[in-house]
Parts: sequence; C-alpha cells; structure tokens
Amino acid sequence: MAMVTRRTVLGVLATGAAGAAVPLLSRPSQARLAIVGGGAGGLAAAEAVRVLAPETRLTIIETLADGAAHRRLAADGVTILTEAATDIDPVVRRIRTTAGTVIEYDALVFAPGIGFRTDVVAGYGADAEAAFPHAWTRHNRDRGLGKRLDAVPDGGTVIISVPEAPFSFPAGPVLRAENVAAHLLARRRRIKVLVLDANDTAPLLSERRPLWAARFPAGSIEWVPGHQGGRVTAVDAATGAISGDAGRFRADLINLIPPQRAHDLALSVGLADTSGWCPVDAATLASATAPDIAVIGDANAAAPSAKTAETAGAQAIRAVRALLAA
Ligand SMILES: Cc1cc2nc3c(=O)[nH]c(=O)nc-3n(C[C@H](O)[C@H](O)[C@H](O)COP(=O)(O)OP(=O)(O)OC[C@H]3O[C@@H](n4cnc5c(N)ncnc54)[C@H](O)[C@@H]3O)c2cc1C
Repeated sequence: MAMVTRRTVLGVLATGAAGAAVPLLSRPSQARLAIVGGGAGGLAAAEAVRVLAPETRLTIIETLADGAAHRRLAADGVTILTEAATDIDPVVRRIRTTAGTVIEYDALVFAPGIGFRTDVVAGYGADAEAAFPHAWTRHNRDRGLGKRLDAVPDGGTVIISVPEAPFSFPAGPVLRAENVAAHLLARRRRIKVLVLDANDTAPLLSERRPLWAARFPAGSIEWVPGHQGGRVTAVDAATGAISGDAGRFRADLINLIPPQRAHDLALSVGLADTSGWCPVDAATLASATAPDIAVIGDANAAAPSAKTAETAGAQAIRAVRALLAA
C-alpha cells in the first residue's frame, strides 16, 4: 500500500507543486492539529506535518494504532491515542473518544475511511456480514475468509459480490477474484469463481482477462456485469443464499463486499451529504459543511473512482499544505 514518506513530501516540494508552503516552514507554530483515523490518509497527513511544520502539536486518534508507522510517529513525539473518536464538535473544535478523552484542536484532518450501507441489499446486517464475510476494512480484512477459503472443496464455487461504485479500492474485486482463483487452483483441480458485479465495467478487468486465460483452466473466473444481472439485491444469512437479477445463488463461500459510504462518524458529525460521502473543496479538501476540517481519503467525494491509499496520500499533502497556509 502506498505510503507518504518524508521523501515523497520533499519530492512534491521540489517539483514546485507545494511552492507556497515553503515560507511557512520557517514560521514557528504551536498550533494543535488533530487527525482522526490513522490509516493510509491520516498517517500520510502526519508525515506531511512532520516535514512541513514540525513544531505543530500533533495528535492522532486511531482505533487500531498497532503499526510500525504509528510507533515511529509516537517515538517522534506525536501523541497517538489508541481510542475511537465518537463525537466531533466543529464549532468549539473538540473531539471526544470512547475512553472519555477530550481533544481540543485548531485544525482537524478527518480520515476515518469507509462505512457500510445496510439499506441497499435487503437482509444485510450483522448476521449476513458473518455469513458472507467481506474482509474489506483493516478491522475486518480476514474475518473468517481465509479459513473458509481453505475449506472450499475440489469442484467448489466461490462467489464474490461487488457493490455499486464508488467503493474503496475499485481495482480490488478483480485482484481478489484472481487471488482467490490462484490460491484455490494451487490446491484443487477444479474451482469456479463467480463474480456478481453491480457495475457494467470493472477497472483492470480487460487487462487481466488475457492473463487469466493463459494461467487458469477455462471458466475458472466468470464475471457477470450489472447489465447481465450481476447486481445482488437480497441476502439470506439463515439459508446462505443471495439473489439478484441473475437468480438465486448458494456457494461454498460467498464474499459479499457491501455497498459503501463514508464512515459512520462522518454521518453523525454532519460531514456527509445525501450521497453518503463527504463533499469537499477539490483543491484544499476542506469540508463543504465545516471548512476548518479537511476530509481526506476514502470518506470524501473528491475522487470517487480513485479510492486508494495512493490518492489518500496525495490528498493528505494537499490538505496539510492548505491548513498550514490558512
Ligand atoms: C482489500 C483491500 C486492499 C487494498 N489494497 C490497496 C492497494 O494495494 N493499494 C492502494 O493504493 N489501495 C488499496 N486499498 C485501498 C486503501 O486501503 C484505501 O483507499 C485507503 O486505506 C484509504 O485511506 P483512508 O485513510 O481514507 O482510510 P483507512 O486507511 O481505512 O483508514 C481509516 C482509519 O480510521 C480508523 N478509524 C475508523 N473509525 C475511527 C474512529 N471512530 N476513531 C479513530 N479512528 C478510526 C480505522 O481504524 C482506520 O485505521 C485496498 C483496500 C482494500 C479494502
């Protein structure tokens, strides 16, 4: 996954893209910058601040601050709170966490990633999430999926259900289908990966198809696009069945990637609009509803077809530059 490093930030400066930020580097600052979400975007923002305004008092609130990057930033003097932010008051500029911690800030980078919609696929909820594991967030990346994949028998079928775009990592379904096929074919003689896609086109699909034809037995991966009935509209966790325009399906394993929107906190704080994503200024990533807050990464509506770590990292640098210039 792409990470923003000191070299990346300096590279952007060197190309002149961040020219206006240079004078700010020499301005002493005791500003308090909070970052909610220490994933790809939040960490990239922290690295950018460490380079562009090292005297900033930086606090990262991250539910799962267990990575090497978190440890490195903590050793560098950044306050890392391994807690979940539960409330943000943009007027008084205050964050509260599940642990009861209160953080006051001058500027906020909001990068909590995605949330899942439960109002699109009938029957989707906690039971369905367990029955059809998605493994589509850091917290849920392998929940049950790896073990259940290994249990798929020879001649078995795996279904991957792809939600309507936008969703995190648009190229992910093609890569996942390929990885699942490669993993199972290395261990079984015959398997089938059936992809039910709500969309008419999938990034990378046309590029990878020739490779699949060369590498896998014919019919190992079948892709059903939206216009051929690929959209899944209902699930039944009790029977293990999913259904849509193409019919009703059961399989040895169903990996249902749920329809997505911005993280729940974006909705409760009022940063998301009716699309479920957070509208922002495309240049500065400032929230359309709370301009003191920069919303970066998957949660925003800025780059619907580019919800990747790389985009989150690039947005982080732009957002930090804009906050420092404000
Ligand atoms: C299976 C998969 C594979 C991928 N592979 C790639 C790849 O190879 N290359 C690539 O460029 N992109 C990849 N992506 C996409 C990439 O992971 C995302 O686009 C990127 O992580 C988005 O960054 P973000 O900062 O917006 O969100 P995230 O990286 O998801 O970070 C959000 C963070 O916020 C934290 N958080 C959530 N709620 C709270 C809260 N209430 N309080 C505090 N913290 C909170 C979470 O713990 C999380 O760490 C992949 C995505 C998936 C699902």
